Amino acid sequence: MLLTSDVALVDGTVRHRFALRIEGGAIVAAGAREELARAGEPVTDLGRRAMLPGTVNAHNHSFQSLLRGFGDDLPFLEWRDKALYRFSPRLDTEGVYTGALFAFAEMALHGVTTVCDFFYLNNNGNDNARAVIAAARALGMRIVMARCFYDWDGAPAMYRESVADAHERFLGLHAEFAGARDVLVCPAPHSLHGASEEMIRAGADAAARVGTRWHIHLAEEKYQVDDARKVYGTTPLRAIEKMGLLSSDLVAVHGCWFDADERAMLAERGASLAYNPNSNMFLGDGVTDVVDLVARGARVALGTDGGCSNSRVSVFDEMRACALLQKVARTDGQAIDAETCFRMGTAWGGEVLGLPIGRLAVGQRADVSFVDLDDLSLWPWIEGQTLAKNIVYSLSPRAISDVFVEGEPIVRDRTLVRVSLDEVRERVRALTADWHRE
Ligand SMILES: [Zn+2]
Repeated sequence: MLLTSDVALVDGTVRHRFALRIEGGAIVAAGAREELARAGEPVTDLGRRAMLPGTVNAHNHSFQSLLRGFGDDLPFLEWRDKALYRFSPRLDTEGVYTGALFAFAEMALHGVTTVCDFFYLNNNGNDNARAVIAAARALGMRIVMARCFYDWDGAPAMYRESVADAHERFLGLHAEFAGARDVLVCPAPHSLHGASEEMIRAGADAAARVGTRWHIHLAEEKYQVDDARKVYGTTPLRAIEKMGLLSSDLVAVHGCWFDADERAMLAERGASLAYNPNSNMFLGDGVTDVVDLVARGARVALGTDGGCSNSRVSVFDEMRACALLQKVARTDGQAIDAETCFRMGTAWGGEVLGLPIGRLAVGQRADVSFVDLDDLSLWPWIEGQTLAKNIVYSLSPRAISDVFVEGEPIVRDRTLVRVSLDEVRERVRALTADWHRE
């Protein structure tokens, strides 16, 4: 099958009449439509819709979309107790599925083709994680299931497991989906405060056993640096390094309070960062020095974080927020450019998650989004000269028209292909109706 349109953004360059040949969900050829075309081959031509790599959401907690609006404008501990700890323990497996379907449906409509769900409502098993994966599959979205390892006893019981159980259950879940093209299961010890040292070691060990990366929240808020000093006698990334676990397998989430030496260490060891600028602003966490990390050669991806700490689910929105926040933090309009932020949300997202996604190139999976070039948010239209800038700075979500994963359509003409929005709304309404009355 040939997938084509009038304009494409290929590794930052505008290409006219560009096409992809897709076989078995992979891009097997890419180039000028005239050169690629073969007689009799089916062609899907989207005309005046610009072809872009699908966006990669490197950090999310899908169930949190259900809590949207419940804890806004509160201090963190109050939000945690009044929203997170109050409502999340009520979610059974069906509720977890509904939360994921809700979050992922909205993401798909915003051009997300891969989501990494950092999932901690494990309830002493894998049924809930399977439900999250099933929701992604129902929509046709690719998922990285970052299965949490959590043992801090201040959290609700459904978050917590013994070290041995977390390790064994993770390996079981990973084996279930080994070889799947649309699902990657990797371990995710929650954080220095949510997971004991033994739990963190178990997560890193599990990653090494199955050959994946592992994710962990680090240095999101300033108090976490103070806590790390108390418990580990040093700052968060140094604590990981002291454990002997700082390697290219590590995906640190947030890193707002990494100091210059920690940023250098992260880059030198080939570790990655999942950066969530909107969430960091929403919660008043702080500003990760991404400009410095990129200059040092670190891999940086973008994440939306949970739907109640942002409260949006668009990676295009994160690209814009990343650029603006870095510029204001340095009071320098040239601190970072649109093209770099676009790469963070696409190609670098693929690199951070360890998947062949995020580029319109041979050897990549065929995950593609299209935006309508007649949408006013992308005008004036000057043969695409300003397309890369406008995608990051002015794109309206209204312009996102079509989304393909593994070469299969999951959104066409702004409509989900496989799941009805009425079903999503009805599920969310039925699940949360009582919450609103309390
Ligand atoms: Zn998070």
